[in-house]
Amino acid sequence: MKAAAFEHQGAADVQEALRLLAAGGGRAKLIAGGQSLGPMLNLRLSRPQVLVDLANLAGLTSVEVQGQELVLGARLTHASIEDGRHPALAAHPMRQVAAGIAYRAIRNKGTLGGSLAHADPAADWVLALVVMGAVLRLQSPHGVRERPLEGFMQAAYTTELAQDELITAVRVPAMAQGRWGYYKFCRKPGEFADASAAVCQVAPGAPWRLALGALDGPPLLLAALAQELGEPGTATLALSRLREAVAAALPERDPIDHQLHAVCLARALEQAGWPARTA
Ligand SMILES: Cc1cc2nc3c(=O)[nH]c(=O)nc-3n(C[C@H](O)[C@H](O)[C@H](O)COP(=O)(O)OP(=O)(O)OC[C@H]3O[C@@H](n4cnc5c(N)ncnc54)[C@H](O)[C@@H]3O)c2cc1C
Repeated sequence: MKAAAFEHQGAADVQEALRLLAAGGGRAKLIAGGQSLGPMLNLRLSRPQVLVDLANLAGLTSVEVQGQELVLGARLTHASIEDGRHPALAAHPMRQVAAGIAYRAIRNKGTLGGSLAHADPAADWVLALVVMGAVLRLQSPHGVRERPLEGFMQAAYTTELAQDELITAVRVPAMAQGRWGYYKFCRKPGEFADASAAVCQVAPGAPWRLALGALDGPPLLLAALAQELGEPGTATLALSRLREAVAAALPERDPIDHQLHAVCLARALEQAGWPARTA
């Protein structure tokens, strides 16, 4: 099947994108890399009358260092993050996450903002950036607002993004001394995850955040388990305890799912410095 007919309008800058989006009313949609929207158009799951194309827009590709944070333009591609083209990203854990998204052709086109707006429950950025405590910068004709990524995704493929709003940037911790682990289980490299987990401590002494991904909706933060863990080297970490915590958090899921997510969590924690326990 091919996409239903639509009008294609390129936006030269953010203001023009916002103007075109508003002019299209509910019938206009943004397109960035087209790696998620393209298939949806072809399957006619999405039938906008106007596509506002961000591909040649000036800007939204910068990486700025602001104190202990990085401000990443929404049009940064997965590949540019993977390659660490900006020095601030050279040692940042986002590189590892980017490298595991699909395959290089997708990563060359797909963008950070597009992935977060699309809100696929199995998407890598959704989980990785929620656990890091990222903040979105959103712009509309009414102005600019910021809101935590946590809670922005309401359900699978559903966010609180308003129809006339654009994601312009994402604020993430610089992670210069942070600890981090990310693990996803997929049957073949380049496929969406069947189960995933991420753990993060943005700076020494900061609270740990643990989350599970590839669920039916947004990532699930495991706040109680994070408190229980203490610091690497001080806590015993048995896989059976992780499985128990996952089962309690996901009672509707079957034991195989519990095991997959618990193993993802154990491997993410291992990357972050906890000794492995297999019992
Ligand atoms: C075969 C295949 C495998 C994939 N595997 C993975 C994977 O393993 N992990 C993973 O995370 N992803 C995967 N993806 C998805 C990929 O990462 C997409 O690039 C990403 O989800 C969407 O980015 P995009 O720039 O292409 O967005 P588009 O497809 O252009 O747009 C997606 C949605 O975002 C909206 N949008 C785009 N930009 C903005 C913006 N700045 N502000 C507001 N709304 C915006 C659009 O209106 C649309 O609703 C895969 C895709 C394919 C085709």
